Amino acid sequence: MAVPLRVLILEDEPADAELAVHALRKAGFEPDWTRVDTEEDYVRCLELSPNVILADHRLPQFDSVRALARLRERGLDVPFVIVSGAIGQDLAVGLMEQGAADFVLKDRLARLGPAVLRALERKRLRDENRLAEQRLLASERRFRALIEHSSDGIVLLRPEATISYASPSTARILGYVPEELAGRNTFDFVHPQDIAYVRTQLEDLKQSPGSVVSAMFRMAHKDGSWRWVEMTGTNLLAEPDVQAIVINLRDVTERERALCELQEQTQLLQNILESMSEGVIVADRNERFRIFNAAAQRMFGQGATEAHSPEWPQLYHLYLPDGVTPFPADRLPLVRAIRGESTAETEILVRRSQAADSLVILVSGRPIRGGTGDVVGGVIVCHDVTARRQAHKALAERAEELARSNRELQQLAYVAAHDLQEPLRMVASYVELLAERYKGRLDAKADKYINYAVEGADRMKALVDALRGFLVLTTQAGPFEPVDAAASILGALANLHQLIEERGAVVTHDPLPSIRGDPAQMFQLFQNLIGNALKFCDGTPRVHVAAERTGEEWVFSVRDNGIGIAPEYRERIFQIFQRLHGRDKYPGTGMGLAICKKVVERHGGRIWVESRPGQGSTFLFTLPVVGRQLS
Ligand code: ADP
Repeated sequence: MAVPLRVLILEDEPADAELAVHALRKAGFEPDWTRVDTEEDYVRCLELSPNVILADHRLPQFDSVRALARLRERGLDVPFVIVSGAIGQDLAVGLMEQGAADFVLKDRLARLGPAVLRALERKRLRDENRLAEQRLLASERRFRALIEHSSDGIVLLRPEATISYASPSTARILGYVPEELAGRNTFDFVHPQDIAYVRTQLEDLKQSPGSVVSAMFRMAHKDGSWRWVEMTGTNLLAEPDVQAIVINLRDVTERERALCELQEQTQLLQNILESMSEGVIVADRNERFRIFNAAAQRMFGQGATEAHSPEWPQLYHLYLPDGVTPFPADRLPLVRAIRGESTAETEILVRRSQAADSLVILVSGRPIRGGTGDVVGGVIVCHDVTARRQAHKALAERAEELARSNRELQQLAYVAAHDLQEPLRMVASYVELLAERYKGRLDAKADKYINYAVEGADRMKALVDALRGFLVLTTQAGPFEPVDAAASILGALANLHQLIEERGAVVTHDPLPSIRGDPAQMFQLFQNLIGNALKFCDGTPRVHVAAERTGEEWVFSVRDNGIGIAPEYRERIFQIFQRLHGRDKYPGTGMGLAICKKVVERHGGRIWVESRPGQGSTFLFTLPVVGRQLS
């Protein structure tokens, strides 16, 4: 089959051109040809991309030397065959040197076909080579770009660890430009503590061609810091085109630091969890335990297991507060948390084999949600309240015991005070009778004894009265109502008027508030305090009552100019029957302040004294602004 061929013929003789075409046809081509004989036409026809150019050497206005030059100028590689009459040997060689593919004499046109064939074959080879070169160049460029733009540093090492090449990206890791690294020994940059390790790795690598090793160690950055690098080394020493150990370096300093921080954080959390007295248990949505801290293990007698929730009540000895019904698995706070429910303070009894070892545990649970808001697990916090429950129970028992003994005591005191009255009255009456009838009739001693008996009987009567007065504070307490403090004082003063007159005393008071309380007890409170102020005074008594509001309470004060009280007695004087003086000096039973204390406390207040011996006393007591009756 004929081979199509675009032919450009540079020839001034049309007949010669025909002959050449004929010769080509004979050689098996199917020429599509154009004949030109001027430079201008020739240049234009070059645009048609001829497969071959046949050129006469000399034309009237043009020649093959220039034609070749035009071709080269355009960078075109078209086989250029000189078809000429006689041509000198030198000229032929010169033209070949300038790029002509061949030359054929016009009288030997039978050679033209094979010459063109050869030229085309050579051109094909040239094209192939060029293409291969271009491909090679492109692939080299691609690999260079890959290496130079890779975030990893790429380093080639000679067998003795000298750096023969370092990619520009190495500068990002170690701060040195490639020129500073080339020729240096790798170990100049390795951390002293890592040298032995890295050396072993490289030795291993050198042992087996083609092998790969990985290592992580520290290398010096130009700025003086140490960077953690991850190295992958490949032994390509035996590869003729490489002949090096190829090292891939990656800076993992930040990753290592983040990892370290994460580890520290995790450790910290772990420590906190383990040191907590609350039990913490976390399970994922497949009921796999993720956290089961030490406190939880202590409470439940064991830690995490593979078991699923239906087995938990039996495995961990979980019961309802009745201590007999196993805790229903689907109501366990952890199971509910995994279902997405929050629970608070569910009471669970962990029943051990010994009843005394059983624990009461309050458990609160919450679901754990992932980034998308879906429940990914649950967490429970367990609080062992066994000791608290026991303490509560003991306290309640003691309070009950105390209340009972208090009631008994009160009963006893009341009965005593009440029942004593009758025999007392009898003793008193008969002693008085004795005094009336027999005073002066017996001897002096008998008179003295009768006097003692009368005094004793009076005194006992006073004591029993005082005791009864104290007891009725609780047994006959009246309801609270608004009480005008000034009116209470007025009442008290009326009762005390004889004493006031006798002593020439002056009792004053500031404007006083109205409070809520038991009117009879308020009256008694003021009477006792003002009475004491008048009584325990060796000169002319001056008593002043005031009240001041501080926050939610009134602070009342009863100030006198009396004998004062030594600091060590400030507490004692408020106790029943406690007195600091002989009856002959200051009369009394020692019950007055005990009554005051009881009254104030029943009204929700406190009472105390501020005093110095010889400098008067101020009794202070508080009452709530909004009084509430205390039982
Ligand atoms: P009584 O007045 O019957 O002795 P109280 O309980 O009222 O009993 O007082 C107890 C003691 O406190 C008194 O005996 C007295 O020593 C002391 N006391 C009470 N009020 C005053 C006061 N205003 N000044 C000095 N001492 C006082």
